[in-house]
Amino acid sequence: MSSSLNDLIKAHIRQHGPMTVQDYWVLCLAHPQHGYYRKQDPFGRQGDFITAPEISQMFGEILGIWAADLWMKLGSPSNFLLAECGAGRGTMLGDLLRATKNVPGFHDAMSVQIVETSETLRKVQADTLADYKVTWHDTIDELPANAPIIFVTNEFLDALPIRQVVRAKGQWFERVIGLQDDKLSFGRGGVVPMSDKVEANDGTIFEFSPARDNIWRQIAERVRTQTGGALTIDYGHAVTGFGNTLQAVKDHAYCDVLETPGDADITSHVDFARLSDMAKDLNPRLATQRDFLTRLGIHIRAKTLLAKANEQQAADIQSALERLTSKEQMGDMFKVLAIVSPSTIDTAGFVDGQA
Ligand code: SAH
Repeated sequence: MSSSLNDLIKAHIRQHGPMTVQDYWVLCLAHPQHGYYRKQDPFGRQGDFITAPEISQMFGEILGIWAADLWMKLGSPSNFLLAECGAGRGTMLGDLLRATKNVPGFHDAMSVQIVETSETLRKVQADTLADYKVTWHDTIDELPANAPIIFVTNEFLDALPIRQVVRAKGQWFERVIGLQDDKLSFGRGGVVPMSDKVEANDGTIFEFSPARDNIWRQIAERVRTQTGGALTIDYGHAVTGFGNTLQAVKDHAYCDVLETPGDADITSHVDFARLSDMAKDLNPRLATQRDFLTRLGIHIRAKTLLAKANEQQAADIQSALERLTSKEQMGDMFKVLAIVSPSTIDTAGFVDGQA
């Protein structure tokens, strides 16, 4: 399989010249036949990587607390949309829904919506969420517009493609993928005018993502016009910076981005400063995953689970808690951003002036 996408990309480059990082990324993840997300279920212990909801049920449960709190702060509307973009195996939503079952009125009022491009994963999601009525969409545009909306996303924006520019001779050049000795290799394309980026040393890389901007703009606009909120969690930085964060993961290990196109996941860090900036009017709040989960009571939840656990389960709960919250693991590198409308709502899990 991998060789076929590799061959297709090489043939394309031979015919049309080098391609941008963005085009390469899209082919690797979303090629209809060979794209990584199109052909398999990459999550979980057997998959290539494990995401927070797959590590522990506590993750989705805590998001349930956040969502229920926001719904109440919105005045407990009798109809609202609960939307997830890029729902993977549906695990997070399943845990969120179970955790909110006893919130009076929440389930009666909600209409569950998933924006998901992968047919394979939609089937897994339908299985996981068999007890609920779910509507699937290809794009955010298709979501109903007639009710308040509460979005949740985890490791969604990092799956959307970026462009990279590299500094040379006082200018920024598109970073591209071409061929060297018949192998895929990085190179420099055309000059890219970058109005807001100043001086940097030769070789410096700067990343930006029109695709993420576009989707985040749509999410923010829905929150703005329909009222509600969005919570987005991802690996990323709180301050915009330079650097190459493009990475590929296969079998739980990092690998060369150009080595096995279509057989490895590709991601990059999300620029949370930019996302906050784009939704300035929606009271953007940023926290580390560790602080967010701690403030919303993950340790208390762990204690409750531990009280009923056998020895093996107890060890699993402890290690999951550590993995989700410790500074050395996901706790600090993953960030949580919330936006709300009306912007006067003080969404749960954040403290003023802290990131
Ligand atoms: N949230 C899940 C999955 C993260 S992986 C978890 O935390 O485990 C990224 C998810 O986004 C996958 O479900 C993938 O199929 C989906 N996806 C990627 N690009 C998308 C797009 N443009 N629109 C909707 N979903 C997309």
